[in-house]
Amino acid sequence: MSREKIVVIDFGGQYNQLVARRVRECNVYCEIYSYKTDLKKIREMEPKGIILTGGPNSVYEEGAPSCGKELFELGVPVLGLCYGAQLMSHVLGGHVCKAPVREYGRIEVTVDRSSKLFGNVSEKTICWMSHNDYIEKPAPGFRVIAHTADCPVAAAEWVERGLYAIQFHPEVLHTQEGSRMLHNFVYEICGCVGDWRMDSFVETSIRAIREKVGSGKVLCALSGGVDSSVAAVLLSKAVGDQLTCVFVDHGLLRKNEGDEVEEVFGPNGPYELHFIRVNAQERFYRKLAGVEEPERKRKIIGEEFIRVFEEEAKKIGRVDFLVQGTIYPDVVESGLGGESAVIKSHHNVGGLPDYVDFKEIIEPLRDLFKDEVRKVGLELGIPEKLVYRQPFPGPGLGIRIVGEVTAEKVKMVQNADAIYREEIAAAGLSHMPDQYFAALTNMRSVGVMGDERTYDYAVALRAVNTVDFMTAEASQIPWEVLQRVTSRIVNEVAHVNRVLYDITSKPPGTVEFE
Ligand code: GLN
Repeated sequence: MSREKIVVIDFGGQYNQLVARRVRECNVYCEIYSYKTDLKKIREMEPKGIILTGGPNSVYEEGAPSCGKELFELGVPVLGLCYGAQLMSHVLGGHVCKAPVREYGRIEVTVDRSSKLFGNVSEKTICWMSHNDYIEKPAPGFRVIAHTADCPVAAAEWVERGLYAIQFHPEVLHTQEGSRMLHNFVYEICGCVGDWRMDSFVETSIRAIREKVGSGKVLCALSGGVDSSVAAVLLSKAVGDQLTCVFVDHGLLRKNEGDEVEEVFGPNGPYELHFIRVNAQERFYRKLAGVEEPERKRKIIGEEFIRVFEEEAKKIGRVDFLVQGTIYPDVVESGLGGESAVIKSHHNVGGLPDYVDFKEIIEPLRDLFKDEVRKVGLELGIPEKLVYRQPFPGPGLGIRIVGEVTAEKVKMVQNADAIYREEIAAAGLSHMPDQYFAALTNMRSVGVMGDERTYDYAVALRAVNTVDFMTAEASQIPWEVLQRVTSRIVNEVAHVNRVLYDITSKPPGTVEFE
């Protein structure tokens, strides 16, 4: 099936994935490729338009990422963003140099509304800028269509050739009308009709999976996380009882999580699939006994997971296909949509080796962003609670318990975390933190309870706001909410007598504790 496509060419900008996401939000399919990609390959994809991203370099530097001017002669509209805009100008004969005034942050831009790019955009509009260089003189043929107080060429166009250069970042949400501009580019300039929709995605994938699988047996390692759950349901719709899902409960899940996963995917759930829950809690606790070092804990958990999975797979017998919940950011991060991501198992299931006798890996979600995976999940009728689940690390609570992991400590952190989640949900916050959880520190301290001395553990609460999980800042949870959570935890969770709130940002901290 041919669908229209926009190609994003990546010059190393920090917002490269955002560009693609915003375009897809316009219902236009979009893929990211490295600037090193062969022009021939790009031409063969027959893109409706090309977008050049930002990047950390300066176009006039020796060895800076570049492109030939043939890229601008394909007869396909090209939109350059920041570095991409500078590059377009540089390659086509304009002049780019260090700006006398660098701009960073929200800046008011005055746009020429007669340009198609700025149709329905306010004449004065707030945009996100992040540059040291600027286009001092646009390339011949270009007309300036936006400026700021310090930047004479905030945007330029060469309508006849379909070339557009923008100094700011429309993909960043701080650019208030950025989505509108990208929408204008893909619809008004590239002539897209918008054929990328999640309902058609589901239909098309189901057909493709059936064709590929035939009558073969399919195995899916289910973690209960969003990606593997959506992959499992999609597969189950496609191949029904040829699918077996193996869910390993390693005893490091959040409170009741194992049962919740079983409710959805088990025999009483709405899906017709073979579901195997392996209760391997004891086994994991035994392996983890006495181990304090975080990296060793991670390794042990990952390896044990594989062993359990391996044993189950052997029991099932000859399996032709293995399903993985790889999603597009995994593919991009593993080398820009290149050839590399054929087997990228560690993200989802802790590095499955090829011990299972399978012919092929199926990654039905490998073209999708997280928010699209969620849309597919809803489309498939998966409960919202599961679809909007917070990210949860593979090693689970194993890395939210500082130091040695024991069954008792798992209980403590599960109960504290459940209280925290309950109270956050009840608080009706105007801005929900993007991720929040309780962890168990390895610290014991003295307290007093019922006139008696206690010597117990401290729970740490974490809540962060982040867009991409690469950087994060601590959320400002209202004091009353923190107080309520604290008082409930020390009262209801045995052996916890102190609660701390972590306000460290990332960097220098990480979101998780270990
Ligand atoms: N490095 C270029 C500059 O400083 C481009 C920056 C960017 O793409 N965000 O102007």
